Amino acid sequence: MNLEKLIRPSVLKLRPYSSAREEFSGIGEIFLDANESPYGQYSRYPDPNQGGLKKRIAAIKCISEKNIFIGNGSDEVIDLVLRVFCQPQHDKALCFFPSYGMYEVSAAINEVELIQLPLDSNFQIDLNSLDQYLKDPYLKVIFLCSPNNPSGNILQGVRYILSKFEGIVVLDEAYIDFSSTTSFLSVLNEYPNLIVMQTLSKAFGMAGLRLGMAFASQTILSYLNKLKPPYNVSKPNQELAVTLLLDLDRIKGCIEEIKHQRSWLAEELKKLVVKVYPSEANFLLVEVKDANKIYEQLLGQGIVTRNRNGVVRNCIRITVGTPFENQRLVAALKQIL
Ligand SMILES: *Cc1c(COP(=O)(O)O)cnc(C)c1O
Repeated sequence: MNLEKLIRPSVLKLRPYSSAREEFSGIGEIFLDANESPYGQYSRYPDPNQGGLKKRIAAIKCISEKNIFIGNGSDEVIDLVLRVFCQPQHDKALCFFPSYGMYEVSAAINEVELIQLPLDSNFQIDLNSLDQYLKDPYLKVIFLCSPNNPSGNILQGVRYILSKFEGIVVLDEAYIDFSSTTSFLSVLNEYPNLIVMQTLSKAFGMAGLRLGMAFASQTILSYLNKLKPPYNVSKPNQELAVTLLLDLDRIKGCIEEIKHQRSWLAEELKKLVVKVYPSEANFLLVEVKDANKIYEQLLGQGIVTRNRNGVVRNCIRITVGTPFENQRLVAALKQIL
């Protein structure tokens, strides 16, 4: 694979902004380089490379810091990937349907044509009909979401696509920590075209901090780093995440509790609704008789779910909450139905 051929020409040529904090080497004592105020707790710019946070994530994920990129949420990573590899109004990206909505929004913002292929009735990829697209020289990026949002299942055929496609494969593993299958992080070295995307927003419980991660070869990450705003992750966010990640036992306990509640909720819902799709994530896709109506009725009781009727007919996506929240939901549904 020739990675340079995949990079947008303007990105290859680009000389990135060099921030004050990156330009010196050695040990600084007095910092008069970045026009910061010398007064105040947060007066200094944050570490542009997020060294401390990467070190912590490297230890948790058993991967080298050099293969980690941190974005202001995964949404920043999606945008950067499109900008690195796709020339607007020229190149294409591909994703599947139904899936995470940001791929489409980000492609539209960047004026990148997005091919959306339907998943089959089990929310799996039809690999035969995918084949013809893989040869398109304008197709630069494929987004795969596994476990998929909103269906909750693991996608089959990821390895097939990785080996057959000569462009970039972004594997969005936002929900992988709730799943019984292992992450593709362990085979990152086998595929020079793979970007594994994860986030601290879901299983790690830090959606408010906006911290998304991309894992890929150093070459791929060098281009993401070239385009990212120099100080894309704030200092309090970096510090808070490092602190919260120290208590991994607590985080793992929460994940186990959510998985336990997922089983309980699925069993309860099966007694009430048309269909509960199996889930490897922290949500359940549920088919009801009239999604619009039930969504509104739940809302009337103060319970906010995600109406996915526009995407999967008569389906509502329900996030697994605390035992109390889940019981409230089940009680409300019993009353409505
Ligand atoms: C929630 C979610 C994310 C996380 O996005 P952040 O910007 O990191 O909060 C990424 N991908 C999918 C499929 C998601 O559902």
